[in-house]
Amino acid sequence: SGRWASVRAVVKELEEKCGTPDARLKQIADALNVEMHAGLASEGGSKIKMLISYVDNLPTGDEEGTFYALDLGGTNFRVLRVELGGKERGVVHQEFAEASIPPALMSGSSDALFDYIAEKLAAFVADEERIYEQPAGKERELGFTFSFPVMQNSINSGTLIRWTKGFSIDDAVGQDVVVEITKAMKRKGVDMRVAALVNDTIGTLAGGRHSDPDVSVAVILGTGSNAAYVERAQAIPKWHGPLPKSGEMAINMEWGNFRSSHLPLTEYDNAMDADSLNPGEQIFEKLISGMYLGEILRRVLLRLAEEACFFGDEIPAKLKSPFILRTPEMSAMHHDTSPDLKVVDDKLKSVLEISHTSVKKRRVVVELINIISSRGARLAAAGILGVLKKLGKDVSKEKTIIAMDGGLYEHYMEYRKCLESTVFDLLGDTTGTSVVFEHYNDGSGIGAALIAASHSLYL
Ligand code: ADP
Ligand code: MG
Repeated sequence: SGRWASVRAVVKELEEKCGTPDARLKQIADALNVEMHAGLASEGGSKIKMLISYVDNLPTGDEEGTFYALDLGGTNFRVLRVELGGKERGVVHQEFAEASIPPALMSGSSDALFDYIAEKLAAFVADEERIYEQPAGKERELGFTFSFPVMQNSINSGTLIRWTKGFSIDDAVGQDVVVEITKAMKRKGVDMRVAALVNDTIGTLAGGRHSDPDVSVAVILGTGSNAAYVERAQAIPKWHGPLPKSGEMAINMEWGNFRSSHLPLTEYDNAMDADSLNPGEQIFEKLISGMYLGEILRRVLLRLAEEACFFGDEIPAKLKSPFILRTPEMSAMHHDTSPDLKVVDDKLKSVLEISHTSVKKRRVVVELINIISSRGARLAAAGILGVLKKLGKDVSKEKTIIAMDGGLYEHYMEYRKCLESTVFDLLGDTTGTSVVFEHYNDGSGIGAALIAASHSLYL
């Protein structure tokens, strides 16, 4: 029928506009490489900030003592206590508590957000006092993982450049986030010193390196996306400080803000961007990360409902609600192996209140999911190729481990498989085998504790 023809037309158009042939991915990798050079050359030289982390020594394994980490990511935040036992014993013990960030706090005031975090920290410390005693005369020390773009001035200070991932707290922008959390801890009676401020990518790089010296790149695919890697200090023209003894500096790329004319953007992406809290920003992140994939799918489904009466003569009301269809639901539908696509049926019902879909229509939904998810995974792979190129690892047989973390990478297996196989394909037979992906669960928290340890006052 005519309706079905218009359904096919919408799907076909999406597929074409989302196309990521290998040749295009290589152009994207090259474009990222150019931006990396520009971002390292001068402050503001590129849309990707290539931020200096002040981490010039990654963990060696010698770190010892008990340290805390606070991981503020986007969706959840975690408090950890990590006991480090040095070379012989490694990470001896860890405890953690997790809380979600109430949506109201994501667009409130700086004090409200940091007070909430400090309260949770206070509760964690009060709770652990039953099982752990802080040595007298030693203040507790904390590694603060803060996964938003920060211009650091030292290992434990830095000002917030801007928010991403749905946060929008105006009075925090331009403030030193270490000063803010320290003031909040005072208000809540928590006696703790922030020894290190790190991005989650830098934390994951450190956590990964602690387990294996071949780790030199970290990639986060969670609510948002970002990457970090170890750069030669000599290759950072904008660094005017003393050359670190190690000769190296970890760089937080902030690759989420990468943009290139080679990126396959559709009308759905452009509309989602225009409606977002940060239009024109984080374009790469909006194509590849967990906050956005489900929302892109919702927009395509809405178009199908409007133009081809895909869900009947009326447009399902829920389908008009932004961000109602989340990436975990999309991923569950993608992984549906039942012959009549039972999971797709369930999710359409429970999330969108759409019932009585035919199996044929459910197949179309999976087809759309596959298009959106593969595009994201393949673009993330192109990003990784760009970083490997910068390091010369695309032509080297030396082993390189990429430390991976984030809920999207951890749980969305189709995405993960597509990402990894695309990187191997792009690298080709010889170097493909020397690049290894490792998932470091909670690498960013442990990494922050390790960096706090190496910047302890009590060394
Ligand atoms: P954050 O990025 O906020 O620090 P996480 O790394 O835990 O936190 O990532 C959470 C994000 O991961 C969610 O916002 C979601 O987009 C994605 N995610 C979580 N579970 C799944 C899943 N089962 N399938 C696909 N994506 C998931
Ligand atoms: Mg995180």
